[in-house]
Amino acid sequence: MSKIILTGDRPTGKLHIGHYVGSLRRRVELQNSGEYDKIFIMIADAQALTDNADNPEKIRQNLIEVTLDYLAAGIDPEKCNIFVQSAIPELTELTFYYMNLVTVSRVQRNPTVKSEIQARNFEANIPVGFFCYPISQAADITLFKATTVPVGEDQKPMLEQTNEIVRRFNNIYGEIMVEPNILLPENSACLRLPGTDGKAKMSKSLGNCIYLSDSPKELKTKVNSMYTDPEHIHIEQPGHLEGNTVFTYLDAFCLDSDFEKFLPDYKNLQELKDHYTRGGLGDGTCKKFLLNILNDRLEPMRQRRKVYEQDIEGVYDILRRGTEEARKVAQETIKEVRHAMRIDYFDDKELISTQAKYFKEKNNIK
Ligand code: ATP
Ligand code: MG
Repeated sequence: MSKIILTGDRPTGKLHIGHYVGSLRRRVELQNSGEYDKIFIMIADAQALTDNADNPEKIRQNLIEVTLDYLAAGIDPEKCNIFVQSAIPELTELTFYYMNLVTVSRVQRNPTVKSEIQARNFEANIPVGFFCYPISQAADITLFKATTVPVGEDQKPMLEQTNEIVRRFNNIYGEIMVEPNILLPENSACLRLPGTDGKAKMSKSLGNCIYLSDSPKELKTKVNSMYTDPEHIHIEQPGHLEGNTVFTYLDAFCLDSDFEKFLPDYKNLQELKDHYTRGGLGDGTCKKFLLNILNDRLEPMRQRRKVYEQDIEGVYDILRRGTEEARKVAQETIKEVRHAMRIDYFDDKELISTQAKYFKEKNNIK
């Protein structure tokens, strides 16, 4: 069986370091591993509209920003298909069929949907499209017969729901769809990177992000104002690591080689953590170290972004070509789906001739 990846992002803002450690870094590794037959990266503009219906310009502007972030992070358009969700009408069609296979109460139980409804104050007024987005996500993944979906932890309930839909679809209509595997980050700090304010999740919608395209100056301001340990007021006091965002980010980004480069007094992160919890190590030193590491990781991305920004027409071309490729695959699968669902009337010559024969005989007998 082919090994196929599908992942994506909503164009609701530029991509941040949460996206990077949660999914983007992995995508680049998988792309370069050469182990996958096809890699689809979808910009989920239709999904983004489900909770931004009144702000289409935001989605329109961020489409190019997200594409630039991909290219800056090292996604190679020769190896990956970057495509635009709304340009694939087969996705909408499959979503519509999948809606019959899921109950309202099942979607209501989805914990990510629950918390997102709360975060958006949608309790009393949930747009139907937003409520159904886990179903459309199942369509996104399965239309491309993805076997592997590298995403952050918040996507786990979506993958569970997708697999339920696949089982139900295959059970009724025959083995067409493929159950995908979720690929979560191995490093637990990356599952759900918190925001710079220490809040549960760094998220474009919450304004607590470090963006991949932040300038060194913006980065410095953000790192310096990061949430640490509120009880660690004097250097000599013992500090706490739990909920300390600076250390969570170090867990997500720091390599042993960073100590040699930026903080040679320590050998590794464990030594630094030990000193912090013992007391005698200031937040300023840790923040400066983190700042150096983040700059080190982001600088090559800033450089690559600058190059692509000089050829925006070329970037739109990359998107157009990726979308055309994706559309071909989508059309093949939807053909199989229509056949399996017995709605391929006009392609089924046998149906027409059998029925013609049936009605002829029926009328002759009379
Ligand atoms: P929005 O607030 O509009 O939903 P978002 O920041 O949550 O935006 P998405 O486009 O919904 O971003 O998510 C894209 C991918 O990035 C998903 O795989 C998701 O799991 C991952 N991701 C997003 N935020 C984080 C985070 N803070 N830590 C780890 N992974 C994340
Ligand atoms: Mg999200």
